[in-house]
Amino acid sequence: MSKTDWIQQEIDNLKSQGLYNNIRTIGSPQGAWLTVDGKKVLNFCSNNYLGLANHPALTAAAKKATEEMGVGPAAVRSIAGTMTLHVELEKRLAQFKGVEAAITFQSGFTANLATIPVLVGKEDVIFSDRLNHASIIDGARLSGAKIIPYDHNDVKSLEEQIKANLSQYRRALIVTDGVFSMDGDIAPLPDIYEVAKKYDILLMVDDAHGEGVLGKGGRGIVDHFGLHGKVDVEVGTMSKAFGVVGGIVAGKSVIIEWLRQRGRPFLFSSAVTVPDAAACLAAVDLLEDSTQLVDKLWENAKYFKAEMKNLGFNTGVTETPITPIMLGEAPLAQQFSRELFDAGVFAMALGFPTVPQGKARIRVMISAAHAKDDLDKGLEAFKSVGKKLGVI
Ligand SMILES: *Cc1c(COP(=O)(O)O)cnc(C)c1O
Repeated sequence: MSKTDWIQQEIDNLKSQGLYNNIRTIGSPQGAWLTVDGKKVLNFCSNNYLGLANHPALTAAAKKATEEMGVGPAAVRSIAGTMTLHVELEKRLAQFKGVEAAITFQSGFTANLATIPVLVGKEDVIFSDRLNHASIIDGARLSGAKIIPYDHNDVKSLEEQIKANLSQYRRALIVTDGVFSMDGDIAPLPDIYEVAKKYDILLMVDDAHGEGVLGKGGRGIVDHFGLHGKVDVEVGTMSKAFGVVGGIVAGKSVIIEWLRQRGRPFLFSSAVTVPDAAACLAAVDLLEDSTQLVDKLWENAKYFKAEMKNLGFNTGVTETPITPIMLGEAPLAQQFSRELFDAGVFAMALGFPTVPQGKARIRVMISAAHAKDDLDKGLEAFKSVGKKLGVI
């Protein structure tokens, strides 16, 4: 017996339950087609909504900035790591999103870890949607506040929890994903805002899958619902539609200032690199110039979802380009994914704990990078695998 035997046992358990993560290796730039484990396949997996991950304007900006400013910031933001590019990016993001101020982090994950603990602490309470992203859950845990989940997208459940619990705490925060990444549904933010206003509670939305997707030209969920100035904190990411990497927090300047003073990933982890910041700035330029990529994304999503429904697949409750194909048990979803891969289509199976038990699925991520012909090839593969496995 060795002291790590239990770990091997846990890993073997995952394998026998069909929950083991087989990690694929990508040998090409991101785009509609990828080289995955040496094979060229149609890409239905990445969060590259607008095709910016390998866009010439972004790669050129990253190259130019690297030549002029080097690569690494060599420090945390609060010591010597804040470069002109970071400041410029934050200014531009604030303008783009129509907020007073913005601050960037290394990732959306660290943006949540930074933000929640500066807003609430041990004497406080967080009302959190049951299906919120892992980084919200971890940020909430780090804060030490009491976490009270409410039923998914259920404003009545939220208000019941507030009524029953609010008076026992000093301060409160309501937090929700904007777009839920496993189902593609959208939080009822206008109704959540009304509740937050009624009880005078801070409101935070994590718009990771809405940034560059929802709202005018991809300005996000707050713009989508016309709630400018009403949501206290918007968290976002530049790793998805923006095609690069990095987290954003946008909102009232007093909150952004507080994050500069107390946000731990800002104070204790180095800034994003020069090429990252430059590429993100180029992404903002593109989005401000034209809504063409965002329009193409939605056109592709509408077409693909309608055709999948026509084929008889269950695409759940999606309202966005995220397209889940509900299959039930994890082993079926994994087999479906393997068969698709053999047919030249890369689409990920998701099982527990990423989604609830019995709700395993294939998740298709539609992108503006897909041509109609690509989508048709994908639909053909879904049709033949779906028939073979008795799903349709
Ligand atoms: C992807 C995602 C994150 C993490 O963003 P990264 O920039 O990849 O760290 C955070 N929150 C939500 C809701 C997400 O979907």
